[in-house]
Amino acid sequence: MSQTLLQKVWNAHAVRRLPNGQTQLFVGLHLIHEVTSPQAFDMLRARGWHVRYPERTVATVDHIVPTRDQRRPFLDVMAEDMLSALERNVRGAGIEMLDLSSGSQGIVHVIGPELGLTQPGMTIACGDSHTSTHGAFGAVAFGIGTSQVRDVLASQCLALDPLKVRRIDVRGRLGEGVYAKDVILEIIRRLGVNGGVGYAYEYAGDAIERMSMDERMTICNMSIEGGARVGYINPDDTTFDYLRGRRRAPQGEAFDRAVAWWRSMRSDADATYDDRVTIDAAAIRPTVTWGINPGQSVYVDERLPKSGDVEPADRAALDEALVFMGWTGGAPIKGTKIDVAFLGSCTNGRLSDLREAARVVRGRHVAPHVRAMVVPGSQSVRMAAEREGLDRVFTEAGFDWRGAGCSMCLAMNQDRLEGREVCASSSNRNFKGRQGSPTGRTLLMSPAMVAAAAVAGEVVDVRELANGR
Ligand code: SF4
Repeated sequence: MSQTLLQKVWNAHAVRRLPNGQTQLFVGLHLIHEVTSPQAFDMLRARGWHVRYPERTVATVDHIVPTRDQRRPFLDVMAEDMLSALERNVRGAGIEMLDLSSGSQGIVHVIGPELGLTQPGMTIACGDSHTSTHGAFGAVAFGIGTSQVRDVLASQCLALDPLKVRRIDVRGRLGEGVYAKDVILEIIRRLGVNGGVGYAYEYAGDAIERMSMDERMTICNMSIEGGARVGYINPDDTTFDYLRGRRRAPQGEAFDRAVAWWRSMRSDADATYDDRVTIDAAAIRPTVTWGINPGQSVYVDERLPKSGDVEPADRAALDEALVFMGWTGGAPIKGTKIDVAFLGSCTNGRLSDLREAARVVRGRHVAPHVRAMVVPGSQSVRMAAEREGLDRVFTEAGFDWRGAGCSMCLAMNQDRLEGREVCASSSNRNFKGRQGSPTGRTLLMSPAMVAAAAVAGEVVDVRELANGR
């Protein structure tokens, strides 16, 4: 019988059906970090339990690390305590830790793929919402809560409800200045931030197939922002080429054997779906969020919606967002003054993102009233960027060049918005208070658009900047 990738991976990892209808699913790879694991280890200790498969668990530190001065002990006592707790816990359990001295530290969703830990056909779990990123490789990857982190540490299993599958075909060619970030913002705008509840999103179509692995990760990363439990892309030669030679991927003949199996872990051509959506890639334009959830976005040359533009049920949310942001419905987004530009995060902190942003800022300078920073997604990304001289391009343009971490995506370190500042950000969430100030305002956009906003000092259309208009 024809199956989707989700069904194949699910069936291959199902331990048993539980009496409540859930499936007990074996987790191939568990990624942990300093924020959601300490309580899980405490719960484990309180019950006298041990980590069942330490060799299937990998730890790193990302959310709380300072990006300017990473010497230990950290100046922030709470951050130092969190990292020390993680170090004690992994040492006690025999879990591998990719720490600041490893050369492999970084945002958990950046380092898994770049090390080759993330592979097609796997089940992956991590105590972080954006674990869906790993679905770019044809893995089924779940963001989980702290009590589930405990469950996975103790049993290497999760109890999960069945999921429906929505196939989203993106067809046609993306225009100049339009990136994977614009595609996923378009999908979320069209289907809504809750449109994916109960679903896995399968992204397909020739526009997705042409994308690099970095771009595919950007797409899958934000599945959760559309309400989907997981997002994935069927693995293909692009996937296998990316993994070949990665440190933790199978090597030599084992790699060839793995590819043979990976090729079978994709949706059958005649698989049936619970829903199908088609998106015209050519119609997508550079996109900017204007509100307080990632579905509240407009094309850069559009105007903000007015109350009368939306369904009555959506008016309260629209008005709340306009009031919080201090905008007026019907105003253009282009020309909105920004105070901060943030390039980084697990959505857009990879080498190709920095290359695109550097292309825009090369030979230009950050506007005098803007503070701008680049935070590479991992130490490997940072080192590779420095080998290409991207750090110099950014610093000569007036950006701060920082150490790897989550940084201002979530502001659990010192990198924060102040007061009502407006931030052009390549991250994934524009919720109230997300970037450290309860009244700060976040505009999500592609890295190239962030770079363009940084030099212009306001929201601009990167296509016009590139053409010297
Ligand atoms: S970069 Fe942001 S979204 Fe990604 S793991 Fe870090 S805090 Fe979460």
